[in-house]
Amino acid sequence: MRRAWLLTLALALGAAPAGAAERARSLVLFVGDGMGFATVAAARALAGRLRGEPGGDRPLAFERLPHTAIVRTASADALVPDSAAAMTALMTGVRTRNGLVAVGPEVRRGDCAGARGRALRTLLEAAEAAGLATGVVTTTRVTHATPAAAYAHAPERGWESDAELPEAARRAGCADIARQLVERPPGDGLEVVLGGGRAAFLPWDRGGRRLDGRDLVAAWRARHPGGAYVTTRGALLAAARAGDARRVLGLFAPDHLAFEVDRPAGQPSLAEMTRAALAVLARHPRGHVLVVEAGRIDHGHHAGDAFRALTEVLALDEAVAAALEAVRLERTLVVVTADHASALAFAGWPARSSPLLGEAVELGPDGLPRPGRAADGRPYTVLGYATGPGPARGVRGRPGEPGFRLPARVPMAHGAHGGADVPLYAGGAGAARFHGAIAQAEVHRLLRAALGLDAPSPTSGR
Ligand SMILES: [Zn+2]
Repeated sequence: MRRAWLLTLALALGAAPAGAAERARSLVLFVGDGMGFATVAAARALAGRLRGEPGGDRPLAFERLPHTAIVRTASADALVPDSAAAMTALMTGVRTRNGLVAVGPEVRRGDCAGARGRALRTLLEAAEAAGLATGVVTTTRVTHATPAAAYAHAPERGWESDAELPEAARRAGCADIARQLVERPPGDGLEVVLGGGRAAFLPWDRGGRRLDGRDLVAAWRARHPGGAYVTTRGALLAAARAGDARRVLGLFAPDHLAFEVDRPAGQPSLAEMTRAALAVLARHPRGHVLVVEAGRIDHGHHAGDAFRALTEVLALDEAVAAALEAVRLERTLVVVTADHASALAFAGWPARSSPLLGEAVELGPDGLPRPGRAADGRPYTVLGYATGPGPARGVRGRPGEPGFRLPARVPMAHGAHGGADVPLYAGGAGAARFHGAIAQAEVHRLLRAALGLDAPSPTSGR
């Protein structure tokens, strides 16, 4: 009687009944870096324009996922988080301070000795300990703050290679993030690592930026004799097709990968990397945890270039659609969220037919379009930034040009992040647990619960 009532209540609330479906064998977590609500809405409008439907705003693929939550992102020491703190909360369930990579908030930034024993166990470490395969895919350097918080621990996000590691930190026993990925990875190592940042893995005389002479690519190959190391789109697609590589390391550029709109033929798209990662991870029958970051949404926003930020969101959307085609949702949880928002403003009274990346066109009292005017009689733009490198008024350059800048109210060389909440979309096994307004650390607990991974100790013992 009581059970029946609870079941009725659960169904009425749209939640799946307790049981097998609530558990996910695998997880694909997409993180849009800097993808707040305004960014999603503007990307949806841009997608309509690119399809040739100027007023169109059909939902993106990830917006069709049935379960949603609103996520708070403030870090332990800042109202507006950086990616290191925000991703640490998602990966470890602990709210830490800006600049720290999967170490606790008591650690001072840059203090190597103080970070000893303060490493927080990440979702990928817990997954590896449970025998799952793991992977990280990103459009940034694979050692950049967001992907790093999935597998490394550092009191300073900037320590990506030994060239950035201060002498004192080196003496105190800290290893740079690239070295951790190869030499001290979670479990037996991530099965899939795809992105940019090759220079942090190679010595300077072999095209890298390492000063210690280490060749971390050679070290990875020695550690994983059957693994595939690839540096081009073609080699990645071949490794995914080949059907026997159970591990792949793909480093497709010395630095970040190109923005999708500038992408050279030799670099894979985020959707192609996602598809390849899932093909390799599917060769591990016990399940997997894959983190996919669309890292350059944030870089577009930092530059005041909403065209590049929003087209990166559309590249993320293609990657989500590719994942939804590739996985079986009855056993895989798919979650799409952001580490933090940006300071993009989507405002004014633009008509549906108005340009999106330029000056607003409004509808007059006669219903006819006319240039929008601000209180001072001058035009205004539909999109703009609270902070950034753009002009105070108007637009610099044209959408698609590298120097395209939308206006910023407060001048800053790099636009700052936004402190507003971010969306979360979930579908598949265990997705019904995501609802309400929750903190980022709670997202971590829900992900772990969906996978049935308990964390006996919050620290990783490092
Ligand atoms: Zn950023």
